[in-house]
Amino acid sequence: MNNKDFIYQQLKWIAVYFVISFIISLIIPFPYSLIVIVLVVLGISFYVRKRQMTKFKLENFSMFNSNKVNYFCMVCGMKHNNLMCPKCGSKMKRIG
Ligand SMILES: [Zn+2]
Repeated sequence: MNNKDFIYQQLKWIAVYFVISFIISLIIPFPYSLIVIVLVVLGISFYVRKRQMTKFKLENFSMFNSNKVNYFCMVCGMKHNNLMCPKCGSKMKRIG
């Protein structure tokens, strides 16, 4: 994820929070709507952070993996660490 993507992601979530706050303030009368908005925003940001952490861990794990293990395409024998073989496009591979 590069910087530009990160900014877009942040803007997207700000828009989501804005829409949610707006809808909640329409449904729920004022002092209570604030409490609900804070709870919802906290809940969403907790969920997003947790999801990003999981993604980050997965990326790290695959980086670690690709440094240690070589994969060979089962169809043409090409050595690669991609999901698909860059030569023939096969997804079948064996560990070498
Ligand atoms: Zn191949």
